[in-house]
Amino acid sequence: MKYDEFKIISNFFNKFQRKEKNLIQGIGDDCALIKIPENKILAISTDTLVEGTHFFKNIDPKHLAYKTIAVNLSDLAAMGALPKWVTLSITMPKVNFKWLKRFSDNFFKILNQYKITLIGGDTNRGSLSVTLSAYGLIDGKKTLLRQNAKEGDFIYVTGSLGESAAGFFLLQKKKYIINAKTRNFLIQKHLHPTPRISEGIIIKNFANSAIDISDGLISDLGHILEKSRCGADIELNKLPISHNLINNFKKNNCFDWALSFGEDYELCFTISERNIKKLNLAIKQNLIKCKHIGYITKRQKGFNLTKNKKKFDFKKIGFNHFN
Ligand code: ADP
Ligand code: MG
Repeated sequence: MKYDEFKIISNFFNKFQRKEKNLIQGIGDDCALIKIPENKILAISTDTLVEGTHFFKNIDPKHLAYKTIAVNLSDLAAMGALPKWVTLSITMPKVNFKWLKRFSDNFFKILNQYKITLIGGDTNRGSLSVTLSAYGLIDGKKTLLRQNAKEGDFIYVTGSLGESAAGFFLLQKKKYIINAKTRNFLIQKHLHPTPRISEGIIIKNFANSAIDISDGLISDLGHILEKSRCGADIELNKLPISHNLINNFKKNNCFDWALSFGEDYELCFTISERNIKKLNLAIKQNLIKCKHIGYITKRQKGFNLTKNKKKFDFKKIGFNHFN
């Protein structure tokens, strides 16, 4: 793609170079160069979105640009990092200027909102896929890992769960009877999930462990339990399921979506009882919106779901993501 490659880079990706004190060299040389400030840790995350696997053929490039940024920022958020730089590798079957303009316009719009700089990338021909790497800075030396949940920790989730799933199904089944305002809200939740960056930075100071919910609560909390060698008790009636869902969909669908659909990009974190006061203060100051959903237990106790304190078998509601 030689000729086109340089034209694509200069026309669409090397347009808005943000001046920034830690960036020594951005797009245009063999490497980007960054100075890491003292007392900071560099956090790095990469995600690839492939046509047919992660997004539909004919996706609006504007939505693809948003999603590729959001999924990476969500990973940085789960570790309490402030996103600063990204690199973008894009592979496409042919050069479509209209498509590229729509993609890159929205890409830079979002980067600017977050004050993030595109510092490099790669451009190739092939089936459509987008790989973004995001680089962020963590303040101080304390880290927020999956592996540090402790028995007795309170388990919390930010925001609400299952709305992205509802938005996805509304996009599929256009006939669903639901008022237009709620429909649009839920579809937005699916297309434009908000990475919980400021929340991640706040909880880093007092949470023991965290993860972002990309694959569903069961799966993602499962990773914390595995890494921390713990079990958990979750009460379904405590899950943050909004009225937008409860009022419009079957309750079992709501539970299933909240537990297993994913793509909410909320944070799930665990915190020891002695730090709850600090969390409550942050909640009171409107710095974070989150809900207590259960407890970390001993490993031998396993992962238990209850509904009104009675054991709940999630297979009954068509849960199938374990396969
Ligand atoms: P090299 O062959 O040395 O890898 P390239 O020709 O691939 O260099 O890229 C030239 C410059 O453009 C590099 O700085 C690279 O990081 C940047 N670049 C390439 N593709 C993109 C892209 N899609 N978005 C942003 N920067 C890109
Ligand atoms: Mg290259």
